Amino acid sequence: MKADLIIYNIGELVTFHNGPLARVSEDNAVIIRDAGVAVRDGVIVAVGKSRDVKSRFEGEALNAQGLLATPGLVDPHTHLVFAGSREDEFNLKLQGVSYSEILARGGGIYRTVKATLEASFEDLLSKAIETASLMLNHGTTTVEVKSGYALSLEGELKMLKVAKALGEASSITVIPTLLAHVPPREYRESSFEYARYFAEVIVPTVSKENLAAYIDVFCDRGAFNVDESRIIIEAGLKHGLKARMHADQLAYIGCSKLAEELPIDSLDHLEKMPEENARILAERGVTAVLTPTSIMAMMEPKKPPVEALRKAGVVIAIASDYNPNNMTPLQQTAMDIAPYILNLTPLEALAAATINAARSLNIHHKLGSISEGYKADIVLWDLENYKWIGYTWGYNKALLVVKDGKIVRGKT
Ligand SMILES: [Zn+2]
Repeated sequence: MKADLIIYNIGELVTFHNGPLARVSEDNAVIIRDAGVAVRDGVIVAVGKSRDVKSRFEGEALNAQGLLATPGLVDPHTHLVFAGSREDEFNLKLQGVSYSEILARGGGIYRTVKATLEASFEDLLSKAIETASLMLNHGTTTVEVKSGYALSLEGELKMLKVAKALGEASSITVIPTLLAHVPPREYRESSFEYARYFAEVIVPTVSKENLAAYIDVFCDRGAFNVDESRIIIEAGLKHGLKARMHADQLAYIGCSKLAEELPIDSLDHLEKMPEENARILAERGVTAVLTPTSIMAMMEPKKPPVEALRKAGVVIAIASDYNPNNMTPLQQTAMDIAPYILNLTPLEALAAATINAARSLNIHHKLGSISEGYKADIVLWDLENYKWIGYTWGYNKALLVVKDGKIVRGKT
């Protein structure tokens, strides 16, 4: 049979089928030693022992030289489109000034909003393309991209159009999300009014222009409260978007409990979530998207209740949460430090950065796994086996990246 690309002599191929995705262990992983993969028209057509795949298919053949192969990484939470930087706030945080206080003073998100509104479409796009290429070179083949640094209808539309243009200009797959980030400063005392404007004007327009797959709200102290978040999420659902939510990051004000009443695909952050709420995520099939590099960037000791999530059987994903408060766009780094920050095993970290991340975006039936019929997004790592994930880190270990069957990093 004909194939466009055959990768053979893979030392260890590690992937996960589409479920069960909680309680990750070697028993529910697919681990093939001396493996091969065949790709045709951008899709995986065979996975198995190297010798079998090589004998069944003809086409361009690539010797993996005994290295580790995994699915391309899926980064399910980023704020990739923005202008400016906030390096001086890094120093403030080191002096003990909290993220909430910086925001209340008009810094943080508000500073990035100003810079992003001032930037041209072209500048935002060229910066986004540059970042996406860095991501691809480090093994990220799919990325969720949020709006949220404009707050006005026109500005949010501009951000989402940049995200769309990014998906067209780069080989990375972009999943766009409309984010209600914070009420504008002039609405600090009347944030419910702004939430209604967002729900009644911004959401329907974005949906009509088909610019977002998801609605998202920063539900937290200093951002939107539960009632405001509810009307924004409901508006998104009503207008055909799927829902995800920033929840319980800075304080617990009941945000994760919204998943009891509304169909929400993912709850992200959860540093302040009470352990007993893990049950809600398990029962409602919500993916927990945890953000290890962002936890470091907050410079606060509180971590999400990983053990409670595990015990309850919640599907755990991780994300880079790339944003000007957490200036690392690499899901590879998030995966590598997840064992240190979140106590995930290397196998859990891999599942969290691939199939589970895809599940949080509801794309796990075609992305995030090396299985027949899936998009051919594959990374060859400069590692012998998966147990080295996180064990060694701090440099780029993605030697070869295949996106939709094409080599976008590395050589044949
Ligand atoms: Zn975020």
